[in-house]
Amino acid sequence: MLSFWEDRSFLKFDLIVVGGGIVGLSTAIQFKKDRPNAKVLILERGVFPSGASTRNAGFACFGSLTEILDDLNTMKVEEVKNLVEKRYIGLRSIRGLFGDKALGYYSNGGFELITEQEEKYLDRMEYVNSILTPIFGEDVFSQVRDIQTFGFSDKVKYLVKNQFEGELDSGKFLELLWETAQLFKVKILTGALVENVDLDKKEVQVRNPIYQNRLDFSADKIAICTNAFAGDLIENLNIKPGRGLVMVSKPLKNKIPWNGSFHYDMGYVYFRNIENRLLIGGGRNLDIKAEETTKNEVNPTIKAYLSRLSEEVILPNENLEFEYEWTGIMGFGENKKPVIQLLTEDIGIAARLGGMGVAIGWQTASELVALLEK
Ligand SMILES: Cc1cc2nc3c(=O)[nH]c(=O)nc-3n(C[C@H](O)[C@H](O)[C@H](O)COP(=O)(O)OP(=O)(O)OC[C@H]3O[C@@H](n4cnc5c(N)ncnc54)[C@H](O)[C@@H]3O)c2cc1C
Repeated sequence: MLSFWEDRSFLKFDLIVVGGGIVGLSTAIQFKKDRPNAKVLILERGVFPSGASTRNAGFACFGSLTEILDDLNTMKVEEVKNLVEKRYIGLRSIRGLFGDKALGYYSNGGFELITEQEEKYLDRMEYVNSILTPIFGEDVFSQVRDIQTFGFSDKVKYLVKNQFEGELDSGKFLELLWETAQLFKVKILTGALVENVDLDKKEVQVRNPIYQNRLDFSADKIAICTNAFAGDLIENLNIKPGRGLVMVSKPLKNKIPWNGSFHYDMGYVYFRNIENRLLIGGGRNLDIKAEETTKNEVNPTIKAYLSRLSEEVILPNENLEFEYEWTGIMGFGENKKPVIQLLTEDIGIAARLGGMGVAIGWQTASELVALLEK
């Protein structure tokens, strides 16, 4: 049973955001920025944000050459361009807002490893550059000449550099978003699993044993930012979960001879140097059906594949031992465009961020806020 005070002070809001990842926090901040007096609440099921945002690889990327070529198979040129531009704007916005130092951001560039079988993609580099030059003002992709200094195995025949990519510290990024939300007096409740969103009543139901298992929050507007888990609350969204594995080695004895964000196998595998450790992730394509899950478990086939790739191709002269391994869940659809739409006049959703939410998350939130403002 609720008290008079609880009912008056804790349950009614101007905006409720479901999900406290990059998109949820960015939505709350951008809504509140122009409405300092608005009461804004974030409901997050985890003790801290527990989706993809704190479990990713921290690549501030917007597509490797082969990924963009692949996107051109499922999207029109203008759509691909738009998506890349949004990622780039999103990235610029967070760098402008928080600063590179606070984000742990490094502009080391992105690199794609190209094998003999993938050589054909190099012929289309100029074309992709011509599509992207209007956004970046100059060529994005170029071929690296002194590839042997990277120390990869001879399976890697070519290296393509994206001069605009970078890497950041995902923990620092989320902390900055969280602190900024609190600075704006956004209320954040964690351990608050939303079980239902009533679109007609504009109510959100949270499971809680103290209140007969159910607490009803209501708001003028509701933003659903639960990414891969959005299908638990809203039907027919066309969002499939996709699990990703990340592993981080123990610090290496020898200095890793490269820095930057690296892509391999059409972007399905990615790796970077973090504090002279190898961070490697991906490999979902090896067992794609099994990885369409929201369960955070390690797939042994993928783990073995990433370990082998690390030792045989990436750092062939190192004795690697992995110290961390974790999985996170992404949201995918028939193409890489996030779902950003109104479900009713006052309830919107921004989800299905795929594998690029670090760059595009802020911009996605800004579009959701604009829709909710209409
Ligand atoms: C292994 C891995 C590696 C990745 N690497 C990169 C990368 O290097 N670069 C990049 O750009 N992107 C990467 N991504 C993708 C990126 O992390 C996501 O696109 C981004 O974090 C999505 O942000 P989000 O806020 O939409 O979703 P999420 O971070 O998933 O946030 C959703 C939040 O909603 C909460 N939630 C879910 N259901 C409920 C509910 N019913 N009630 C209350 N709360 C709920 C969750 O706990 C979660 O905190 C990676 C993802 C994974 C999994």
